[in-house]
This record gives sequence, C-alpha cells and structure tokens, in this order.
Amino acid sequence: PATSVTVPATRASEDRRIPAVLGSDLQVPVRGGRLVPYANLDYAASAPCLEPVSAAVAAALPAYSSVHRGAGYASQLTTARYEQARHTVRAFVGARPDDSVIFTRNTTDATNLLARSLPAGTTAVVFDTEHHASLLPWADAVRLAPPAFPGEAVRAADEALAGIHGPKLLVVTAASNVTGELWPIAALAHIAHRHGARILVDAAQLVPHRRLNLTALDLDYVVFSGHKLYAPFGTGALVGRTDWLSEAEPYLRGGGAVRSVDGDGAEWHDDPEARHEAGTPNVLGAIALAAACDALSATGWSPLLREEERLIGRLRAGLASVEGVHELSLWGPDHPRVGIVSFVVDGFTAREVAEALSGEYGIGVRDGKFCAHPFVRHLLGAKDGGCDDVTASAVRASIGIGTTEEHVDRLVAALRDLLSRS
Ligand code: PLP
Repeated sequence: PATSVTVPATRASEDRRIPAVLGSDLQVPVRGGRLVPYANLDYAASAPCLEPVSAAVAAALPAYSSVHRGAGYASQLTTARYEQARHTVRAFVGARPDDSVIFTRNTTDATNLLARSLPAGTTAVVFDTEHHASLLPWADAVRLAPPAFPGEAVRAADEALAGIHGPKLLVVTAASNVTGELWPIAALAHIAHRHGARILVDAAQLVPHRRLNLTALDLDYVVFSGHKLYAPFGTGALVGRTDWLSEAEPYLRGGGAVRSVDGDGAEWHDDPEARHEAGTPNVLGAIALAAACDALSATGWSPLLREEERLIGRLRAGLASVEGVHELSLWGPDHPRVGIVSFVVDGFTAREVAEALSGEYGIGVRDGKFCAHPFVRHLLGAKDGGCDDVTASAVRASIGIGTTEEHVDRLVAALRDLLSRS
C-alpha cells in the first residue's frame, strides 16, 4: 500500500563536523601479550561504521516489519524508511530522475545483476586492471591490457568499441582498489557513447572518497557497496538506466518481483526496483547505507578531501623515505588517487609484512592480490601469479575517516624497523 507515514528526522544531516567511526578506541594484542591501540589501515576492504550510521540503525530497530505489503504502522514506517533510503542513494550519486536504484548485497551482486540484464548479444569491454567483480561477470567480453597512461585507456576503449557490432558495454573502475588511481571516467563515457555503447562504472572505491555525479559525468550505470562506505555489510546498489533492467528476466524469482501469478504463469513487475528485489530486502542495510550517504553529504566533501590528501600525502612520503619499500602505480606517482596505496618490501613477502605489522605493531593492512590478479601480476611483472604465488602479492594500506597521523607514522616506522632487522 502507498504509505502516508513520515520518517522521523534525524540530527545527523545537520551536523557538519567529520563524524566519528565506531571502534576507534579498539585495543589489540601484539607479541608478548601487550595491548596497543589498533591502527586500522584497511578501509578499502571494509570501512568502519560511522556513528550516525549506527544511530540510524538503532533508531530503526524498535519498529520494523516487512516492506511494501503490510498495512500495519511498523510495516508502513519501514516501507517509508526503505524508500527514503533509495531516494537518498539516488541523490548521493547524482542520478537522473528516471534512473533505477536497486538495492543489492554489494558491488559484486550489483554488477552481476547488470550482467544478467544485458540485451542479448551484448559485448562487454573491460580492462585487465579491474577487480574480479567487474572482470568476471560477462558472458562475452573483450579484455584490454593495462593502459600505459590515461589517454591510452581512452584510445584502447575507442578502438575496441569501434570493432564491436551490436550492443556493447564499457566496464571500468572509477578508482583502483589496488593503486587508488583515478580513471578518466568522463572521457571514457564520452567515447562509449560515441560508439553507441553504455558505460558501467565500478565506484566501490570512489564513493567513500569523492563526490560522484552520474548525471554530470553522463554515466549509464554505477555500482558500489555499503561496507566500504562506512555502513555495515550486506548492502550495495546498482543505479542507472531503467530500460535494460525493466526488460530483463527478474534477477531472483519470488514475491515482490511478481505482479500476479496464475497457474504456471507469472506476470513480473516492469519497475526494475520491484522486478529485481524479490524477497524481503535488507531494509536495515539500506537504512545504514543511506545514513552513511547522508553523513558524508552533510559533512561536505571539502573537509573530507583535505584531510585525506594530508594523510595520504604523509603516508606516501613516509613510504618513499624508507629504503626497500616500493609503491605500486600504473600511471606514476603523480597521478591523482584516493586514499589507497599498495607496496612491496624488499626481502619480505607481502604476507610476512602484513603479519609482522599486525602481530608486532597492531596495524591492520591487507596483503595479496586484492581480487585483481591480472592487475597485480602486471604491476609486479610476475609471470604466473596463482593464488599462492607469494612473489605476485603486495601490501595495501588504505585510509579514511578516523585515520590519524599516528596510524600513518606508526606504519612507516614499523616498516623501517622491520627492514632494519633484515
Ligand atoms: N570493485 C572494487 C573496485 C572493489 O574494491 C571491490 C571490493 O574490494 C569490489 C568491486 C567488490 O566489492 P564487494 O566485495 O563489496 O562486492
């Protein structure tokens, strides 16, 4: 039923200070049983939850019920909160009024949903620099080698798209989860459209760090995850053009996606937001994701960006000052990037470094190939690089709201210390 229930306003949207994250006082054990404050430098995997996000979930918990179907107050309130969350996400990414906003489990789920919704015969064009979530879902794909510079990415996409007849989709990350480097998505969108193709932008690592405006950049689809955007696990979104989605087979078959069932026949909803969200949705996840969007928008991007630039600059300068530490980059150290840096350390495997940082210094980083095997292999010049190949792995440090100078300095000092002992 149409809901007339109004969602109570929260204070979060009026607060322009950078919000706090949960867990910033966490103490973790290091060698010898000592407890030290945790330096979480693994935001690119999952960012900690913002306090206003936790407050929004707590406010929704006392009265929730299934969405879209119940006449009771709790059901109506939950429906209103869920649809408001959709509205918030739409505004957060600057979507066009007629775009669809479909809640998914995460970026991987959102990308697979689009992959299943492509018109028959669509060819995807995808760079080998992508996260596996963007690299693997396509039935028919042209794979492009890592480009040597940003203009080369545009040229390679241009050439590949020109050679494809029939529907085509260019798939590209906005910010690399390995190097943090920003991709020229506006230029790539322009090229895609010149060839009658559409563009899907994987914004999983962009939206926690930069404003994204789908309309201004003329992007057709974007995908991202709540858990990298300071909300807990389990929610993501696919935002973009409605036509392919409303014509595709429902992603899941079941209640909510169907308008009526008669004998064996099912009449599916045309509206993609119903058609592709069968079953009871993750309402609290959507509320959390929307609260994170609200909190970031309320804070404003300038203070967030200033702080990030200061800290990532400090971290990169620190890493560069340690002999034996080598930062990875595709397009050189001066290319703009978000708060992510990957590196290798002479004489140590990435796993040894990550374990030492955790076990001796209370620092959490990620090691491995970051679900981007071809790209990491390329950056390291490695030949085989199967999952267990320690020579084709790197260490990744990533920052965000709640990161401090002390965290950054502790990582640099720890690496210096580690190398001095080798
Ligand atoms: N794309 C990028 C650039 C990522 O960094 C990630 C996660 O690391 C994903 C996609 C997949 O995200 P999820 O695991 O939330 O589906």
